[in-house]
Amino acid sequence: MKNKDLSAFNILPKRHWIALGLSCLFVAALLILIPVQQELERRTFAYEIPVPDITDQETIEADHTWQMKAIKPGDTLAQLFHDQGLSSQTLYKLTLSEHGKTLNKLHPKDKIAFNVDMQKSLQGFRLEKNQFESYEFSKIDDGYQSRKITLKPDIVETFAQGTISSSLFETGLEAGMSNNVIMELATIFGWDVDFALDIRQGDNFSLIYQEEYLDGKKVGDGDILIARFENQGNTYTAVRYEDKKGYSQYFTPKGLSMRKAFLRTPVDFTRISSRFNLSRKHPILHKIRAHKGVDYAAARGTPIKAAGDGKVIFAGRKGGYGRVLILQHGTSYTTLYAHLKAFRKGVRVGKRVKQGQVVAYVGSSGLASGPHLHYEFRVNGSHRDPLKVRLPHAKPIEKSRKDQFLHFAKVMVMRLESHIYGDFYASR
Ligand SMILES: [Zn+2]
Repeated sequence: MKNKDLSAFNILPKRHWIALGLSCLFVAALLILIPVQQELERRTFAYEIPVPDITDQETIEADHTWQMKAIKPGDTLAQLFHDQGLSSQTLYKLTLSEHGKTLNKLHPKDKIAFNVDMQKSLQGFRLEKNQFESYEFSKIDDGYQSRKITLKPDIVETFAQGTISSSLFETGLEAGMSNNVIMELATIFGWDVDFALDIRQGDNFSLIYQEEYLDGKKVGDGDILIARFENQGNTYTAVRYEDKKGYSQYFTPKGLSMRKAFLRTPVDFTRISSRFNLSRKHPILHKIRAHKGVDYAAARGTPIKAAGDGKVIFAGRKGGYGRVLILQHGTSYTTLYAHLKAFRKGVRVGKRVKQGQVVAYVGSSGLASGPHLHYEFRVNGSHRDPLKVRLPHAKPIEKSRKDQFLHFAKVMVMRLESHIYGDFYASR
């Protein structure tokens, strides 16, 4: 069964998953450490794997004279042609065909294949850019004609669920999910759940996500369409939805963003005394030292607010920073507050904080010429200018689309629950 109602998802950009990057590795490293035993379940929807386009395949398969060549860094087509006993004139003729330009740029991951006849004449040539895109050149008269072969993966929807005893990562793997999907799941719920520390026995997850198949072989993962995570008795549900600009993100079934906002400035009644500057002369050390944050001059004792919902991951002394507080927000963001006079009572490692909550007070501990807050903002571990960094969207669903979304979310929740509770099969 292919779900036509979800075809809109096929064309969504995948860019935000690409952006997971290092934070994923970091999360993976945390999650992978813990052994686990759990009940889990995975059902793949019945689906039809489309018959591959035979005309695309037969040229290569019916003819055993094709010779595949792997490309090594530094290889040139001219050299590879020469190795096959083919003239540069032949290569030149290929480049004159419709897709000849593709031959100008050869990448080490490309694959090529030659079809050379007994007379050492090139009958055909193939350039495979990746598993979805290749070019074929065939001999005609005195030249070559070319065509582009594009294969589109089939999107298959998969349901998975698992009950965790300690690690999301292993439970996910045993439920048949790939690393990417597990990381995606951790990122979606990363604002609400700390997968390294907050996971308890009996926590469980369920989700419907996409997988990509080509000729019956899995070639990649698509998006998570809906996911639910139960953590210490709290249930979080996230529904993927696309906004007017075609940008998709996750919302609660009531239309609130799964991501939480940031305050641009964590202190009031201050002025900026030093900006983000990678080649600043340090006021005390008098040496060029990158200033990877923003300084806010403020009276000693001025309250400092958490820039976003998050968790305390460091509260203590650290060299020139003096008293410093580091908050983790979701899986990708951290904020750092240095030269503090003091932490607010109860602020210690592992504690959750709300956006805007007072967490510490301005001081001049460490290497500071006077009382100020030194504030840093990091994305996936790298410093960004807090005044310029693009903060994550955290707006709820737009009013004009609210009704449409609520209906969509309801349908998705029903679909997920029908899997969880088994009605899906009962009703078929
Ligand atoms: Zn500073």
